Amino acid sequence: MNYTRINRAANARLKKQFEEMGITSCELNFKGCMGRFALSFCHRHKRNHYKRWGQTFDEAVEALSDISQVLMSCAFCHALGEGTMRDEMETRFLELRGDDSQAKFKF
Ligand SMILES: [Zn+2]
Repeated sequence: MNYTRINRAANARLKKQFEEMGITSCELNFKGCMGRFALSFCHRHKRNHYKRWGQTFDEAVEALSDISQVLMSCAFCHALGEGTMRDEMETRFLELRGDDSQAKFKF
């Protein structure tokens, strides 16, 4: 399984989905947020967490590009969310995407 290809395909799908939803800036908005600068996709769980869905290329891409699992995030908030502000990031996920019950895959 080529995870570089999977990540690339998932990111392309996410880019399109976020454009369609009109989300063009950081959704975490922690203190010191950079807004629209250095945006990336912030996953609810670590990317390795989604690898169990790597049965097929399409399933793995779908798991990683499931909108219930992803927020748009600036580099600053992304780093905090994966570091000292993990709990606050989970709270933002609950506020903005609900819980995991709507996920296409159960993680
Ligand atoms: Zn931010």
